[in-house]
Amino acid sequence: MTVRVEDSAAHRITARIVTPLGDEATVTTESNYELDHSATSWLPPLLVAGMRKKWNVEFDSPVDSTALRGAPEAQKVFLDWYPKRFHAISVSADASDGVLSARGVGCFFSGGVDSFYSAITQSQRITHLIFVHGFDIAIDDEDLADRALAGARDAAAELGKPLIEVRTTLRSAFGNRLPLDWGYDFHGAALAHVGLALSQHLSTVLIPSSNSRWELLPWGSHPDLDPLWSSSSVTFDHHELDVNRLGKIRRIGRNETAMKHLRVCWENRDGRFNCGVCFKCIRTKIGLAVAGAESAALPGDIDMLAVSSLILTNRHSFHLRNGLAAMEEAGVTDEDLVKAVDKAIRRRHWRQGVAYLRGARFVVMARVRGRRPGR
Ligand SMILES: [Zn+2]
Repeated sequence: MTVRVEDSAAHRITARIVTPLGDEATVTTESNYELDHSATSWLPPLLVAGMRKKWNVEFDSPVDSTALRGAPEAQKVFLDWYPKRFHAISVSADASDGVLSARGVGCFFSGGVDSFYSAITQSQRITHLIFVHGFDIAIDDEDLADRALAGARDAAAELGKPLIEVRTTLRSAFGNRLPLDWGYDFHGAALAHVGLALSQHLSTVLIPSSNSRWELLPWGSHPDLDPLWSSSSVTFDHHELDVNRLGKIRRIGRNETAMKHLRVCWENRDGRFNCGVCFKCIRTKIGLAVAGAESAALPGDIDMLAVSSLILTNRHSFHLRNGLAAMEEAGVTDEDLVKAVDKAIRRRHWRQGVAYLRGARFVVMARVRGRRPGR
């Protein structure tokens, strides 16, 4: 896979990527701040893509020497996590020496629980918040992007921080086309791309954690991985392993700005900013009930029909059980919610049972067919 960094405007960077299959992708990242035009910021996403597809990566222009030294370490992490899905590859690029000039400290800021928690608790050292359109918000969903950006601008102003606004086609034009798994594989490297592109302004970039240290699992942004994307100019800090989601909601529940502008929903059903009925919305509402907090962005009681209808993964069930246990500890009782969660989890077990029986039937039938004479 070859990567050619193209000339672009001060606020825009572009890479033309050609795969060994001959497919081409042109990826553009733009911002209201000037961006770094070296090849360095393209290393993390291209490394992950290369490992996933078993394609070596070749850059046509120099990459920062520190970032290049981190790449083999990042490869070790992925190979340890996903020995079957990922492959060791070579990265070919001339090394350049970075310049440590910027002093800013940025923090990714989607408006969710994790980013509000980091923005509020690390306020003393954070100089800029970073909003990205093109990751959790699809690049062509301009309406949602406009609403989310307006909320992020207001929140940043209330928190007293300038907002760096970034729009990138990295996910839509490249990651989704290969395709790469956004959560497990790609999103951390995509965030690193944005952080490295801001090297003229930031020396440290906080990546708010998704999980506490007790919940860690292989995941695209991880404390073992994020720092390995650092360059001579920008260091990545995976922020907060000692507080779980409920602890974070308790903390941000006391902050007026967070309660006004919270944005947790990725499903946006019926075009609603926080739909109130998806897993993430319901999990956050349970957290707010535990914290005794109310959010104007996520108003109203918990919709029990929506809870009992949730399609749950094992991890979802784990989080909901934790939420109920925390409610009980906090002395908040809601029998209807307990029943609704039980119903959703029972339905999940029933679905797993049916899937198991279907699988067993398939195996038995295959064996029966295999024993038929003449086959
Ligand atoms: Zn929702």
